[in-house]
Amino acid sequence: MGEHRGNCHCGRTRIVLRETSEEATECHCSICRRTAGLWHYSPMHAVTVAGEGVAYRQGDRALDLWHCAVCGCTTHWTPTDPDQARMGVNLRMFDPALWSDLPRRLVDGASF
Ligand SMILES: [Zn+2]
Repeated sequence: MGEHRGNCHCGRTRIVLRETSEEATECHCSICRRTAGLWHYSPMHAVTVAGEGVAYRQGDRALDLWHCAVCGCTTHWTPTDPDQARMGVNLRMFDPALWSDLPRRLVDGASF
């Protein structure tokens, strides 16, 4: 457990993560392989996001992928279905000490 604070490069989007990752997920779907997000999947209640962001809804996917309108960093994704309680946080917005040594889990785009 613990509380970790991250932000996009310019600082307009700030993320507080109230749990500690034990693995980092790399997804090879068509958008993730471009943005190179390193994902921590988290229950929504364990994450607070503040600041201005822009949502990108990819085709038929049930999620919004958020990025900073100023610096462009991909910060997190949220489900479009209100019954879905899980979201994704891009660990690269946090101190590398939090994630650089984590085991990586590779998933393809069909996994979420
Ligand atoms: Zn920014």
